[in-house]
Order: sequence, then structure tokens, then C-alpha cells
Amino acid sequence: MTKLNSKIPDGPLAEKWTNFKAHSNLVNPANKKKLDIIVVGTGLAGAGAASALGELGYNVKNFCYQDTPRRAHSVAAQGGINAAKNYRNDGDSVYRLFYDMIKGGDYRAREANVYRAAEVSNDVIDHFTALGVPFARDYGGNLDNRSFGGVQVSRTFYAKGQTGQQCLLGTYSSLNRQINKGTVTMYPRQELLEIVLIEGKARGIITRNLISGEIERHSAHAVVLATGGYGTIYYLSTLAVNSNPSAAWKAHKKGAFFANPSFVQIHPTSIPQLNDYQAKLTLMSESLRNDGRIWVPKAKGDKRHANEIPDEERDYYLERRYPAFGNLVPRDVASRAAKERCDAGYGVGDTGLAVNLDFRDAINKQGKDAIEAKYGNLFEMYQTITGLNPYKEPMRIYPAGHYTMGGLWVDYNLMTTIPGLYSIGESNFSDHGANRLGASSLMQTSGDGYFILPYTIDDYLADEIRTPRISIDQKEFEEAEKEVKERLEKLLSINGNQTATSFHRKLGRIMWDYCGMSRNAEGLEKAQQMVKELKDEFWSDLKIPGEAGEVNQELEKAGRVADYFELAKLMITDALNRTESCGAHFREESQTPEGEAKRDDANFSYVAAWEYEGEDKESKLHKEDLKFKEVEVKERSYK
Ligand SMILES: Cc1cc2nc3c(=O)[nH]c(=O)nc-3n(C[C@H](O)[C@H](O)[C@H](O)COP(=O)(O)OP(=O)(O)OC[C@H]3O[C@@H](n4cnc5c(N)ncnc54)[C@H](O)[C@@H]3O)c2cc1C
Repeated sequence: MTKLNSKIPDGPLAEKWTNFKAHSNLVNPANKKKLDIIVVGTGLAGAGAASALGELGYNVKNFCYQDTPRRAHSVAAQGGINAAKNYRNDGDSVYRLFYDMIKGGDYRAREANVYRAAEVSNDVIDHFTALGVPFARDYGGNLDNRSFGGVQVSRTFYAKGQTGQQCLLGTYSSLNRQINKGTVTMYPRQELLEIVLIEGKARGIITRNLISGEIERHSAHAVVLATGGYGTIYYLSTLAVNSNPSAAWKAHKKGAFFANPSFVQIHPTSIPQLNDYQAKLTLMSESLRNDGRIWVPKAKGDKRHANEIPDEERDYYLERRYPAFGNLVPRDVASRAAKERCDAGYGVGDTGLAVNLDFRDAINKQGKDAIEAKYGNLFEMYQTITGLNPYKEPMRIYPAGHYTMGGLWVDYNLMTTIPGLYSIGESNFSDHGANRLGASSLMQTSGDGYFILPYTIDDYLADEIRTPRISIDQKEFEEAEKEVKERLEKLLSINGNQTATSFHRKLGRIMWDYCGMSRNAEGLEKAQQMVKELKDEFWSDLKIPGEAGEVNQELEKAGRVADYFELAKLMITDALNRTESCGAHFREESQTPEGEAKRDDANFSYVAAWEYEGEDKESKLHKEDLKFKEVEVKERSYK
């Protein structure tokens, strides 16, 4: 049995990272040139890691399925990126950022990793500023900050509502510098379809060239997955349509444990679904809750136009229920509160599945120009999609699948349970426990890529300096390639009647209804059966037009949907196992009299790390016990 060893360095929490860096093994510059590293992913995590490793002198091969690295999903991030700079002098510190994340994650994250993420957050902001990211500035020229949910300080750096795009452009320029220097070779339009292990170590990947359809072998001394999250399992989500878990899932099937798969964040402020043909939902950034007030009518089924409902007939339910944090409660709390109001019949709009996000008071106080300066592009996006003008009437919003806290289990070094295989950014489970706080993902992904992995990977590669370049002619590559080809053939040969998208839509609905914002044992059991039946139908009635040896997006989708089915089973298994509520994982059987999540620390203060045992077998649960030495574990309250 593989034992989980989180490899947390000794010493006081605030000194662990410094101690690690002081004592870890290094690879000297001459040896770095002889070592190859594959980085899959070009979001802030992957492109950051590739740039940093290239600059250090490693020979980096960087892959993505988009046509250019700068189309990675990170480009969509809107609201901002956190750092403990305390520019506002409002009491922020590394410790407070760490504390907010631990509490925000409902005490289900590993202390040492979270502290380190908070610690390197300041380096990340300095680095992006040096790269020319145009963060908003205040009157005096300093970088400006705003607030995000679950905190009482302003620590979020932003570039209008396009922070991800601007940070990714900065990262793209650092990546291009390395491409130009020849330290990074870019492989766009390539999809990882298998990981290659030799003597138990990750030594390469098998990809499909998405233009020619050719299956390719690529080798390295270590492989880094920076492949993003799996929120798209719900079909409709705020993520890029092509975001998918397949790379992580392939790693899982090869022996990497998958941690807390059921911890999924449902974001409270998405534009509600407008019709049955939509392929995605559009996020309205959490930053809007700095100035927008959320409300529903006090009277059930009140169909008057929002502007006709006077103040005394409005229920600002977040301000009422959570006076200390008001509209800036964390996402899980805000999402559940919206669902509760809508389920009780107070929702607005034609479907009743929406609540108001109202800027009337902010515009009256600060003026339209000030609001436009902060959120102009978001308002424009909202108006383009809905036809409604948010300067004149409230936005209508509803929760949607958004982010996955679960992911590949990694130790302190960000290495999975497969030696030489790393997972960084959203693809790992590392820092956010059962609920991520807003603006802390860009912080973590960039921190992992630029400032953490480049140190920790040395510790492993220091023992690899005598390993010659890995040949792709070895039998392990041959076998992996054969498996990939057979799977593609199997998918193509079904020749049924339904598209991969139609299966994805049905699967997403099951997951949303039974393993979404709220879960119970009966629903989860039912969902497990429904997923199994739908999966059987998929493997007997899938239709993929075209061939393998050409551009074939239907084939790409089908491979991903096949993996979604397997991941769905594990998500439900994990949700069933965790009979407590914590963070975004709300088990209806475990709630306080006020309807808040009720943890069961005595039985569930652990990371659930699942080991793959075979397709028709139950996965095996390994527990990493969580020990809290620096924070007092208490009921999470935002009242
Ligand atoms: C609409 C939206 C707004 C957001 N706003 C914010 C925000 O304001 N602040 C914040 O902190 N967070 C925000 N987030 C979350 C944040 O954007 C993501 O968590 C983060 O960008 C993930 O970065 P990443 O580098 O880990 O992965 P991604 O950016 O998702 O990149 C994944 C990469 O992996 C590649 N890849 C994946 N699978 C394969 C494969 N099989 N083969 C080859 N390549 C592969 C892709 O091509 C891509 O390059 C937001 C999320 C959404 C959906």
C-alpha cells in the first residue's frame, strides 16, 4: 500500500518554507541543461512554471491544447488576485491571509501549504508588476486593492474585471522570452492522452496532435501537470468549455491519488441559464459584491419590476443573516443562501431561479463613472448577454459550477504519489480545503508555477543528474501509445446515435441535481446508479463523425466525456463517504438549526485521497489527517 507522506518540513509554520529552501537539494546550472521537464498546461500555473524553469536553465517542453498558450482558461479570470501586501494599512499580514484561507476552506486544508501560498503571494504581485501587468492604481500611484468574500481587509489586486487576462499576458511574455532563448519548446494543439511510467517514475507523455491526429511520444526526467480544474463536469459552468479533467484522470489511473474530488465550488454570481441550448454560463465577478447589494422581494412570487419594489419591501438577505460580512460572505455561504431563497419561492425573473445584484445605491453614492471605472467591462458583458442595463436595473444572478478544490493529491513539494509527477495550480487539491476564497486561485496558481515548483522540483531532480535523456523507443512508450490508439478506436467504433455533447449535458444535469450545491445520501445513491446507466449507454450509443487521423473535435470531446463518467463516480463516492458538511460540500443531513454547514471534526478532519483500483472496482480511501497547530479550529461563522 502506498503511504501518504506529505513531507511537511520541520520547524515553526512561518519558517518551514525558508528552512526547506535553505536545506533542499539543488541542481547546478551545468546539469540543469541536461535535464528535460515536461509541463502540461499554459495557464498561470503552467506558463509560469515553464518560464521559471526555462530561466533556470532546464530544457522545458510546454504543452497545451489551445492554438496559443495565451488562450488557456486563466485568461477568463476577472476579479483579482490576492496578496498580503497590506498596502491599505488595514491590518493585513501573511498570517491573516493564511488564517482567512484556512477558515474559508472550513479547516480542511493543510496548514503548511496554505501558509506558504500566503507567503509567496507578495512575490507574485511584485513579479507581475515587473512584467508590466497593468494593475489598477490609486490616486497616489500605488497599486489599488479591493475586497473579496470571506475577508475583512482589502487585499485583492485587479486590472478592471480582466485580471486573469492581464496576468496571463504578462506570463505569456515571460514564456515567449524563454521560447526565444530556446529553453522552452512550445507544443500547442497537443492533448495529453496518457502518462508514461518507467520503473514507477513519470518519464513522459503520449499526446494527440489535434491538427494531424498523429499520436506522439514525448519524454522527460519529470512531468508537471498544470491542467486546470474539472468544474465542467456540470456541463454548464463558468469555465472555458474545453476545460477538462482528463490529464489528471489519466494520472490518477496510473497511480496518482485523487484528493477530495467532491469539493467543488459553486459560484454565487453567474448570469442564470437562459435556454436549453447554452454550452456555458458567464460569471459576474465576485468583486461586484464590493458595491452591489443582493436582495429578493420580501413577498413570495412578487413579479413587479425590481425598480418598482420599495426598500422596505426588499429582503437584503445576506446583510440580514450575516451582518459582519454582509454581501461579502464567502461563496459557498452566498450560493446556499441564494438557493434557499429561490427554493422558498422568493426568486426573481421568469424562472424564479435568480436573485438581484443591485448597484443603485453605489451609483447614487459614488457616481456612474466610478462604478464604470471599476467594473465597466463586466457591465458591458452582462448587457450584451441579457439585453438588460445594469446601470439602470439590478443584475439577475444565480449560482453556477465554477472551481474545483479537489484535485490530484500532492505533498509539500507539489509531487503526486507518482515519483517525478507534479501537479500545480487548480489541478491539485492543495490549498483551498473545502472552499476557495475569491482571488486566491490566481495567487496559488502563479505562486505554484513561478515560486514554489522551481524550488521543489530541484529536490527531486538532484538525484536524476546521472539519468541520460529518456529514449522514447522504450517498451513503456510503445505500450502506452498502443493503449491510447486502442481507446480512440474503441470510441470511434461504437457508431451509435448520440453525440458526446448530449451525453455530457445529461451527465452534468445528474451531477448538478444530486452532487451540486447540496447533497444527501438518497440523492447520491440515485446519482451513482444514473451515472452508471448513462455511462453504459455512452459506450453503446455514442456517435463520433470523422476519423482519428484528422482534426476531430467530436473525438476530443468523446475522450473527455468518457473520463467525466469515471470521475463522476469518484466524486459521488467521496460525497457519500463524507457524511459531514464542510465548506462547499453541504450534506443536508449535517446542518445547524440555522441551515449552516455542520462539520464533524472528530471523524472527518482529513484529506480523502483516493487510490484507483480498476474501472469496475471501488476506489480505496487513504486519509491524510489534518493537524492544526497555528489556528484554533472552531465553527466557521460570518455573522
Ligand atoms: C470565469 C472565471 C473567473 C475567474 N476569476 C478569478 C479571479 O478573479 N481570481 C482568481 O483567483 N481566480 C479566478 N478564477 C479561477 C482561476 O481562473 C483558475 O482557477 C485558474 O486560472 C486556473 O489556472 P491553471 O493554470 O491551474 O489552469 P488553466 O488556466 O485552466 O490552464 C489549463 C491548461 O492546461 C492545458 N491542458 C489541460 N488538459 C490538457 C491536456 N489533456 N493536454 C494538453 N494540455 C492540457 C490547457 O490547454 C491549459 O493551457 C476564475 C475562474 C473562472 C471560471
